[in-house]
Amino acid sequence: MTEIRKKQSLETRVIHAGEYSPRIKGAISMPIFQSSTYESSREAGYHTIPYLRLNNSPNHEVLHRKLSDLEEAESALVTASGMAAITTALLTVLKAGDHFLVQRALYGGTHTYITHDLPELGISFDFVDLLSADEWAQKIKPNTRGFYVESMTNPLLTVGDLSGVVEFAREHGLITMIDNTLPSPVNFNPATLGFDLVMHSCTKYLNGHSDIVAGAIIGRQDLVQKAKIKLDHLGGTLDPHACFLLHRGIKTLSLRVARQNQNALALATFLEQHSAVSRVNYPGLFSHPDHQRAKSLFTGYGGLLSFDHVGGAEGAHAMIDRLELAAEAVSLGGVETLITIPAESSHAGLSTEECEAFGIGAGLVRLAVGIESEQDLVQDFASAL
Ligand code: PLP
Repeated sequence: MTEIRKKQSLETRVIHAGEYSPRIKGAISMPIFQSSTYESSREAGYHTIPYLRLNNSPNHEVLHRKLSDLEEAESALVTASGMAAITTALLTVLKAGDHFLVQRALYGGTHTYITHDLPELGISFDFVDLLSADEWAQKIKPNTRGFYVESMTNPLLTVGDLSGVVEFAREHGLITMIDNTLPSPVNFNPATLGFDLVMHSCTKYLNGHSDIVAGAIIGRQDLVQKAKIKLDHLGGTLDPHACFLLHRGIKTLSLRVARQNQNALALATFLEQHSAVSRVNYPGLFSHPDHQRAKSLFTGYGGLLSFDHVGGAEGAHAMIDRLELAAEAVSLGGVETLITIPAESSHAGLSTEECEAFGIGAGLVRLAVGIESEQDLVQDFASAL
């Protein structure tokens, strides 16, 4: 296995970290091990049997080493989707009778799982504002076990007091979980701030080509090992071919995200000055209320932004119909620019009241910027608006 010194840059580590050394049969590209089972001597226990559902094929193991290196964490586990990572992590940390604190305004799928499914299992929660430590102190209970947050919220791109969360959790013995999908390991490494578990939808930036769904749980070795045992039973294993595609995608992660950071900032700056746009949400803009905090936490602001069209849903639909480069589709983090109306897509599972409470109006447009030319993207929006 290649030992990567931490002083090597991320650009080098996405290529070399965690790779087999010597290479398997000299193969430069990681081969796909399309086998559900392997010859083995009698194993020490069930969870080490080389069997595909037990998340231990060579395609899994190379990803585990690479992802833990990129997040500067102890351990990693890939999963069948981002939601498989999030639900497995929550079920690893929490059990019936436990309570946890949760950031308001989460990714729609996570919000629905926490509000609808976890209470059926006897797990309770309270939503909190990530800027109000007073509220955390008011809502904490004797049975509070965890604190669940996102690095940046989707689609409004707010950035909470993440250092404060870690400090508060340490003081009260809570396990911290963070969804770091939006910044990707290029822009932020929450484990270095002290987060216990870092989750990714690898469907997004890590894979980067909108051709698989995948997830990861990364962080403290003891917790990732518990999550592996949970996942072995739940069965949310990533298929070897998807492992191969994710591994290939990660090799260009730093190049892609650098371009996406640049394109998103250019588009946000352009949109902010346009008369058909009433508000732009992008933490890289000086006007964003969380800009200073984002600047202190992240090395780049990511490829996602959102804005309100002055013409509401009707104006937003008309603009989307006129765009030539941006395709109307859910998801983010791929090389193609995608656009959606969150109230009609990612947050359609929420009621109108819930959406409004989160500041997600009918005319809010979310833009997941790709790696096309900055000038061509700005021109496309200039024409469509
Ligand atoms: N977390 C965030 C921030 C997301 O945007 C998404 C999907 O859009 C998920 C998690 C869920 O990921 P997946 O679709 O891979 O299950």
